[in-house]
Amino acid sequence: MKVTKAKFKFKGGVHPPYNKDLARDKAIERLPMPKELAVSMSQHLGAPAKCVVAVGDHVEKGQLIGERNGFISVSVRSPASGTVKAVEKRLGPAGGSADAVIIETDAEQGEGETLPALDWKSASREELLKRVEDAGICGMGGAGFPTSVKLNPPPGKRCEYLILNGAECEPYLTSDFRTMVERADRIRTGVEILRKILGGCAVRIAVEANKPEAISALEKAFAGIDGNVEIVVLPVLYPQGSEKHQIFAAVGRVVPEPPALPIDVGCVVENVSTLAAVADAVEFGKPLIERVTTVSGDAVVEPKNVLAPIGTKYADLVAFCGGTKEPPAKVISGGTMMGFAVSSLDVATTKTTSGLLLLGRKSVFQYISGPCVNCGRCVRACPMNLNPAEISKAVESDDVKSAESAHVMSCLECGACAFSCPQRRPVVQLCRRAKASIRARIAAEKAKAAQAAAKEAK
Ligand code: SF4
Ligand code: SF4
Repeated sequence: MKVTKAKFKFKGGVHPPYNKDLARDKAIERLPMPKELAVSMSQHLGAPAKCVVAVGDHVEKGQLIGERNGFISVSVRSPASGTVKAVEKRLGPAGGSADAVIIETDAEQGEGETLPALDWKSASREELLKRVEDAGICGMGGAGFPTSVKLNPPPGKRCEYLILNGAECEPYLTSDFRTMVERADRIRTGVEILRKILGGCAVRIAVEANKPEAISALEKAFAGIDGNVEIVVLPVLYPQGSEKHQIFAAVGRVVPEPPALPIDVGCVVENVSTLAAVADAVEFGKPLIERVTTVSGDAVVEPKNVLAPIGTKYADLVAFCGGTKEPPAKVISGGTMMGFAVSSLDVATTKTTSGLLLLGRKSVFQYISGPCVNCGRCVRACPMNLNPAEISKAVESDDVKSAESAHVMSCLECGACAFSCPQRRPVVQLCRRAKASIRARIAAEKAKAAQAAAKEAK
């Protein structure tokens, strides 16, 4: 298998301090089963799953507890055997609240309910797709898009390139890195399954150059694989892990503005950990009920990469890492660039929780943002060719229309602009505010049009 250097480099990007050394050499460790789990029904992009258990029910590990609720939705299975203590609203890692099933786990955990093992070589494409859906798999890199939907392109669209996202460009996070080093063979099986589902396509495994151990583990695991498969070594540049930028770096194709999707340019991008989850779901019948989360930051006694059941409270992860050296000045769900600050360790992990950071006083500082000085640094940093200064000033003046004309909907919320701003302006927050307001307006317009159509039909 060939290892090549990326031929294409995107414009913009930044070099935040990576701080990956804290956990990169820590082999994945399994967390003993916590006494209680809080399993959210909204762990993915799209409609929350519909809870199908009630207080007092005994559930088996792997049992369906949340049904897929629409086309863009994902089912949820129980990560443990135990008793349902409550079904209630809980705060999620990104700040919103959603229904969660609170499970008091059994002291003894058996094998639980697994799905029947499938031989991917003889299974049909439909059987494999159904398995991905039944196992409740969504993208584990952050967005949580339902994997079975992504692997089933609409008529007329064909996947020419399957791109594996192994960039993990977010500071501190090493869960994908450890998965590539320790589970490269599972990633290979995942690739073979996806190639069968997608009807045969070239494969590009995109890894940042600062992960040589991952590159050699993948090279070894993929040795002798048939077809057009290459590892593409990407320059170390944030946000290299963004889907659009990976596609450009790996195959030189440009995804047009939303609502265009990678499949519109013949590409499907999947995170490396998702591939390993697909392999486990098919070959071992194992649903997505656990994941690796990096617990790191200078306030943690022993940073680790922890394999924990989904629904594990952050407090249990921190205790497994020896607790804290000092009261954390900031707790972040995810990485420092795109993660969300959380106010409580009662929040529980989801299928997309790749990291939990506890930062000490020295790593966090308070600041007052100043007015824009038109220095242009944010414009140079923006990987989407936007003008973040213009957008942010428009939003501050409540002129969302101008922000929309300046293509704010293309904003990735990557934070490269805010990172480079000498005035510490909350540019990303302002972009988010504009996007939320535009989405709300579009939803209201759609509802109005539907109402009018229904009235006319009467
Ligand atoms: S405007 Fe959006 S895409 Fe551009 S740098 Fe800022 S957050 Fe990233
Ligand atoms: S970096 Fe900050 S100060 Fe400079 S142009 Fe952008 S928003 Fe204005």
